[in-house]
Amino acid sequence: MSGNTSLIDMMNARMYVGGQWIGSRNCATFEVRSPNNQAVVGVVPNGGAVETKQAIDAAQAAFASWSKLTSYKRAEYLINIRDLMLAHREELAEIMSVEMGKVYAESLGEVSYAASFLEWFAEEGKRVYGETIPASAENKRLLVIKQPVGVVAAITPWNFPLAMLTRKLGPALAAGCTAIAKPALQSPLTALAFAKITEMAGLPEGVVNIVTGDAEPISDEIFRNPFIKKVSFTGSTEVGKLLVRKSSEQLIKLSLELGGHAPFIVFDDADLEKAAAGALASKFRNAGQTCICANRIYVQRNVADEFTDILTDKVKALRVGNSLNRDAQIGPLVSEQGLKKVHQHVVDAVNKGAKVLCGGKRAADLDTGYYYEPTVLGDVSDEMLIMFEETFGPVAPVITFDTDEEIVERANQTPYGLAAYLYTNNLNRAISVAEALQFGIVGLNDAVPSVAQAPFGGIKESGFGREGGHQGLDEYVYLKYISIQL
Ligand code: NAP
Repeated sequence: MSGNTSLIDMMNARMYVGGQWIGSRNCATFEVRSPNNQAVVGVVPNGGAVETKQAIDAAQAAFASWSKLTSYKRAEYLINIRDLMLAHREELAEIMSVEMGKVYAESLGEVSYAASFLEWFAEEGKRVYGETIPASAENKRLLVIKQPVGVVAAITPWNFPLAMLTRKLGPALAAGCTAIAKPALQSPLTALAFAKITEMAGLPEGVVNIVTGDAEPISDEIFRNPFIKKVSFTGSTEVGKLLVRKSSEQLIKLSLELGGHAPFIVFDDADLEKAAAGALASKFRNAGQTCICANRIYVQRNVADEFTDILTDKVKALRVGNSLNRDAQIGPLVSEQGLKKVHQHVVDAVNKGAKVLCGGKRAADLDTGYYYEPTVLGDVSDEMLIMFEETFGPVAPVITFDTDEEIVERANQTPYGLAAYLYTNNLNRAISVAEALQFGIVGLNDAVPSVAQAPFGGIKESGFGREGGHQGLDEYVYLKYISIQL
């Protein structure tokens, strides 16, 4: 793509603060390079503490009037934004594909998924109900109301650059909060294009602000600024833990959507064709760079060979290519660092006895980009790195198990608790295993469980808080109890 879209000038991008398009005060910028070929596709301001404070001030100023609008009026704005996003879906998808490498077909899907959060929360905002409580004295009336927390900060990752924004800003705005967002360094252009859409939708200035730049100075300002009342973070567990420590200074309310290490369990009574199609969808979506993707594929011993053959055939058929190619199914990994980590997991597994059934190396004919061949590993064992570290790449390790009790114990043996999957046609087994898995999300014969109307989030070191569902809005309101004496 040329760099000139109708939404933003990618080679001379600006941050969106208080309804203005600004550079950084010291004119510092950073380049965005496409993982397809390392070409520079954007130049973006490198904002810091000063611009972050400016954005927070703008959000605080906008809060007074935004929080007083009716939820019906706020819903109108959210629906306008949704409609404009969908009207610009091809353009948004291209920006996303070129800057972080998601294949175009999936980027289009992400625009729809991102838009669904705006629709859902526009409606949910109308249902922020309070309570009346029967009093124990005749002259008393007891009320509970829910009020917006105030200015919210959203820190988002590169792997879902649009959906992670709307999953946070949708409920925040619907609840009556205003917001600043800091997108990842690898995907600022999608966030700025989204900001443009909020401007086109007539969203009052200061309600949404986007600051681009290095994470530390921006987050330091976020966590020390007294106007910030809530931080919603999606990213690695390592950074999540750091933010917990930072939030203790002002006791800022936090939601953390962190890493995962999902077990994908296939029982011998499962429909193996469906299970393999599910494993393919879960493991290879976004080239394996999703927090809920299958990390460890456990197959009951007596069907392991059959399942592995079906899966390997499907993986061999995946088309690797430039993320802008309309028929590519696997794009590049986001960075060289990501590519190295994936290969390290494969080499480690092979050194410890794994067999490469397909793939297993960088895609040779696409060597200026960060492409890795879709890979299936057999003869995998529990001590291999890939069995306990997030791979974030297109590598499917297949390992066997024997009994239900054993697999539940092995699946739960991880500090993470985001998503788990099981495939079975036995109802008793389905219910008992789903209940025993220590994860926030369980896909039962379902590899793609994320939808706007259901609560998404983890337990253990995958974080806390929920996004989506009616629960997603609770993160942005606080309860006020009003005791009335007549
Ligand atoms: P990351 O390094 O933690 O980055 C995520 C965001 O945090 C980026 O905006 C990043 O900014 C920012 N950040 C980095 N260091 C920071 C600091 N010291 N203080 C404040 N912010 C900081 O994660 P990633 O590697 O980009 O993303 C992949 C991770 O996200 C994986 O672990 C994945 O499982 C997780 N994830 C979870 C979910 C979920 O819903 N649970 C969804 C998607 C992804 P810079 O880009 O400027 O460094």
